[in-house]
Amino acid sequence: MDVRRVAGVISVDDYRAQVTELLGRRPAVSVPVQDCAGLVLAEDVTASVSLPPFDNSAMDGYAVRSDEVAGASEDAPVQLRVGEDIPAGRVDVPPLPPGTAHRIMTGAPMPDGADAVVMVERTDGGRDTVRVYAESASGTHVRRAGEDVARGTVALTAGTVCGPAQLGLASAVGRDTLAVHTPPRVLVVSTGTELVLPPEPLEHGQIYESNSIMLAAALRSLGCTVTTVRSVADDVDSFRAAIKPVLPDVDLVVTSGGVSAGAYEVVKDTLTGAGVTFTKVAMQPGGPQGHGTWDGVPVVTLPGNPVSVLVSFEAFLRPAILSSLGHDDVDRTRVRARLLETLSSPSGKRQFRRGFYSRTDGDVTGVVGPRGGPGSHLLAAFTQANCLIVLGEDVTEAAQGSEVDVLLF
Ligand code: AMP
Ligand code: MG
Repeated sequence: MDVRRVAGVISVDDYRAQVTELLGRRPAVSVPVQDCAGLVLAEDVTASVSLPPFDNSAMDGYAVRSDEVAGASEDAPVQLRVGEDIPAGRVDVPPLPPGTAHRIMTGAPMPDGADAVVMVERTDGGRDTVRVYAESASGTHVRRAGEDVARGTVALTAGTVCGPAQLGLASAVGRDTLAVHTPPRVLVVSTGTELVLPPEPLEHGQIYESNSIMLAAALRSLGCTVTTVRSVADDVDSFRAAIKPVLPDVDLVVTSGGVSAGAYEVVKDTLTGAGVTFTKVAMQPGGPQGHGTWDGVPVVTLPGNPVSVLVSFEAFLRPAILSSLGHDDVDRTRVRARLLETLSSPSGKRQFRRGFYSRTDGDVTGVVGPRGGPGSHLLAAFTQANCLIVLGEDVTEAAQGSEVDVLLF
């Protein structure tokens, strides 16, 4: 079934593309290197120094002329005068006179005239004279200037994700700031007259608010700065009054609830005609969705059921935000797995079921079983899940033992 042909319904992939386009690409900002972990480079990092910047010793030992220790052995040691001490950090390194060895430490600059290092363990460790028990060919235990990175070359390319090694290299080539795409400031809004914040007692008909807690955690895991309005009544004036003043201070608004087909759909009622388009996406759960701008600020409106919220985050917000941050790879790891139970799925909709995936050693394809039913209120089952099982739009039944796609958290 071609879901795009169903009037008013849009495919998961098309909707994801729309949300991704809405969020666009975050601007490049100069950020201290120590704050760049997990962010994506918006610039090429050109090395202003070579790595290593100078020839230096790879060992604690003695800097020597290799031809002067040729043939040295335990039985026939070579004796040399000890000249200078060269600890790491010494900047006035004197050249090595013939017949001499300088005591040198790891990372210290090689003296002119020396072309090899004898490790201290191969000597008697002498301070005035040293007996060398092993030969050391030219270049031995010497780290050459530029053998890691040559000055003027690109050490890290734009688009690189800044992990520990990348940030270490950026520092090593002399950078204190980097141009990166910084995560958005997000306002999370939960709507619903029934919502109460713990620990206030509940009256019959009320529930505890949980969506903003989930969304904030999910957004923060992507580096976003999050503020929340945890409970707005289903009333257009209340909603407008609570949110509009905050819009200038955020880069994105994410709401939950109030977007489906009922009578008190506060988000839909406020934002229809104000820049936000409401759509039905061919998926279960999470069908009713909306996105657009409000006073120029991107808004993504999610349905209210907790499982729908998290599935919508996975399907749309997570990839769109990662893309806005410059990530090329915005998808969860997708693997094939054999179903442990037969599952049914609505025709024409992509179904995302909560599942638990496991794989034993030597087993190429893992297995996956559902956690909870398809109901979008079954949050407890979500906490038992480590993946989403994806059943395609054309699938109405996936038999036990058949292979399905699984998205790993
Ligand atoms: P709605 O989309 O507003 O009709 O909400 C759908 C369902 O999700 C209703 O059962 C709501 O009570 C529930 N719900 C909506 N928002 C929240 C929230 N922030 N926390 C927990 N449950 C919610
Ligand atoms: Mg509601």
